Amino acid sequence: MLPFKLVYHERYDLNLGPHVFPSQKFRLIAEQLLCEGIAAATDFLRPHQASDEDILRVHTPEWVRKLKTGTLTASEVMKLEVPYSPELVEAVWLAAGGTILAGQSALRDGFGANLSGGFHHAYPNHGEGFCAVHDVGVAIRRLQADGAIRKAIVVDTDVHHGNGTAAIFRDDPSVFTISIHQENNYPADKPPSSIDLNMMDRADDDEYLGALIPAVHRALHEFQPDIAFYVGGADPFCEDQLGGLSLTKKGLLERDRKVFEEARRRGVPVATTLAGGYARNVEDTVRIHMNTILAARDIALAFPSANAATKR
Ligand SMILES: [Zn+2]
Repeated sequence: MLPFKLVYHERYDLNLGPHVFPSQKFRLIAEQLLCEGIAAATDFLRPHQASDEDILRVHTPEWVRKLKTGTLTASEVMKLEVPYSPELVEAVWLAAGGTILAGQSALRDGFGANLSGGFHHAYPNHGEGFCAVHDVGVAIRRLQADGAIRKAIVVDTDVHHGNGTAAIFRDDPSVFTISIHQENNYPADKPPSSIDLNMMDRADDDEYLGALIPAVHRALHEFQPDIAFYVGGADPFCEDQLGGLSLTKKGLLERDRKVFEEARRRGVPVATTLAGGYARNVEDTVRIHMNTILAARDIALAFPSANAATKR
């Protein structure tokens, strides 16, 4: 049994058919966590779809209407880079509901994990790069509207820059955004995050961790957020088809552990989401995402009470 909840729904699948995005990964991760005895059935929470009111705190009424009525233009679908379907819309509304639930769980338990989400390329008025709705943005705005948090930090470790996140929170002093990504990669337009860590092609574990961990350390210390949202991309992996960094599975596990330890030591709850992962073998992507859950478990057990940890 895990010391925190996993948020999962069988309709997380984005209904993409043959596509570089392995949308069956959500189901494979949930099944494998159960199969290996890492999680029990009682560790899972089932999300509801986010309400339209929740989605509209981030997205424009026009974009929400187009998604719900299937009236995207051809160029909007091209930019989204996934085929439109009602199932896709249901899945992204569920993913947003799931990230809200993971955030609420994290505030209660110290950690909360959505086994979907991290759709960090979605902008308020359009979708991009497989991302139609910005689940992390929706969750932060919902927790703020509920009065559950004031300040949030987003730590985005997907190999691609968190352009949607940066655009949404650019003028919002209550949200601090960190993106570590390959500089020479999608998206071409990278609006500034609070901190952008631009990695060179083929950067390895040491270069990556040497940039990320001090930045997370400093940001947590100076910004003192009430919650951290972790966008845990599997695509910095050396064998990723859409990434050009050289991280190993061991390095990625170390990344997750060190970020979580930095947060936990300061008593900052962490809500995790998946984001991208396009390894040649889907098993690698599944394993890297599972390792994020194992890292959270290990840090939760090593530092039993978030609030009892020494704040530095
Ligand atoms: Zn990515």
